Amino acid sequence: MESVTAPEPTGARVRLRPEIAALPPYRQGRPAPVDGFKLSSNENPFPPLPGVVDAVAATAREINRYPDATALVLRERLAERFDVTADEVLVGAGSVSLLAQFIAAATAQGEEVVYSWRSFEAYPGLATVAGATSVRVPNRPDHGHDLDAMAAAITDRTRVVIVCSPNNPTGMIVTAAEFDAFMTRVPGDVLVLLDEAYIEFVRDAASVDGRTLIGRHPNLVILRTFSKAYGLAGLRVGYAIGPVAVLDAARATAIPLGVTAASTAAALASLEPAAESELLARVETITQRRDALRDALVSQGWPVPKAHGNFVWLPTGETTAAVADRLFDAGLVTRAFPPEGIRISVGEPESVDTLLRILGELVPASQDTHPI
Ligand SMILES: *Cc1c(COP(=O)(O)O)cnc(C)c1O
Repeated sequence: MESVTAPEPTGARVRLRPEIAALPPYRQGRPAPVDGFKLSSNENPFPPLPGVVDAVAATAREINRYPDATALVLRERLAERFDVTADEVLVGAGSVSLLAQFIAAATAQGEEVVYSWRSFEAYPGLATVAGATSVRVPNRPDHGHDLDAMAAAITDRTRVVIVCSPNNPTGMIVTAAEFDAFMTRVPGDVLVLLDEAYIEFVRDAASVDGRTLIGRHPNLVILRTFSKAYGLAGLRVGYAIGPVAVLDAARATAIPLGVTAASTAAALASLEPAAESELLARVETITQRRDALRDALVSQGWPVPKAHGNFVWLPTGETTAAVADRLFDAGLVTRAFPPEGIRISVGEPESVDTLLRILGELVPASQDTHPI
């Protein structure tokens, strides 16, 4: 009888890219306790509009079919609104997917992606997965992007610079003047991604607005999403507007058919005039709630920077974990970034009451933070 070779002992390790194996697993906020509130993912607290739910439900009858690979109808609709051609719009399964596509399209092993820090927690992982090296430029003391330092950090290895306005998690905007000055310093062969996931919540006229920049810079791409203001986080749909050649390269890196018929139907339904005005009225409610929350925290003595997204930034420093635990015990799930601070989404009115009650008891006695 022939002897059968025993299989490799199960201890033999699959060879993985070490930098990938070392990546921290994605941390989603803890689920909210019963009667609690999830304020950890900057989600929209309003339930979906009935018209949007109906549009999504109607797609269920055709789920035996693949979706339209390029989401043409949605691209045409967005193109109309931004006064560009449909080829200048790229739709993806959330703008995080699009970020990954642009970084993959522009960077190779050892090349650099520059972004501010602290900023969106997805950026470091996306750069690493693409094989690129992250160059993190510390925020200014007022928690805004230091665009001068970011421009100065560009080397001949830099392929992508990400500007996030309003910045997640600190809430600060980049002004239009700052952005213009920055663009004059960025070499034309370096791709700039302007991440505007929260643009609909901005009420400051000085803010940069990607819409006004379309067509002005051959190296600029604007990223927006339906996840936040439009309340479609669960369906995964975002879009990019930029030069066709850059978008084509990003399209080539995508895993095909990531945007489903349900996602595009929901996005299209949200852009219908009646639905959109209702959605934007909700955004207005959230921005007013945000401003009231930030003002109340400042009068309690918290050095909260001006908030331009649907969240506030509490610079809790070394006490970050302790403060987040106290909030959790009161039923509020927030996003803690020890040892810097806590990002708190603007949610249901009841959550704001609890928040102010707990935080009122925890105001730091002495403030080592910078004036705001
Ligand atoms: C939420 C968010 C996004 C977009 O998320 P998607 O749900 O993937 O569209 C992009 N950038 C920032 C900074 C965000 O906070």
